[in-house]
Amino acid sequence: MTELFDQIKARMLRPVPRYRAIKDRTGDRQGMLTVLRQMPVEPAIVWLCKCDCGTFIEVESRRLIHRESCGCLRSLASRARWSKHHAG
Ligand SMILES: [Zn+2]
Repeated sequence: MTELFDQIKARMLRPVPRYRAIKDRTGDRQGMLTVLRQMPVEPAIVWLCKCDCGTFIEVESRRLIHRESCGCLRSLASRARWSKHHAG
C-alpha cells in the first residue's frame, strides 16, 4: 500500500505535459448535462455531454461552465414564462 502511495506521490510531483493537464470531467454534472467523454478534437477540448432530456451535445471545455442544458432548459423556461403570462 505504501509503495502504491509512493508511486502516486512521485507521479504528482512529476511535471505534467501540457496535453495531459486537461482536467478529466468525465462523469461531471453541470446543470442538466452529464459529461460522458472527451471528444478526440484538436486543439480544442471538447466534451460529449448528455442532457437530462436525452439529447447529446458536444461542448467546448471552456464553455461547459456556462452550459446547463442542451438548450432545452431555456426553451422550457420561456415556455413556462409564456404560459404564466397567458394564464388567466
Ligand atoms: Zn436538453
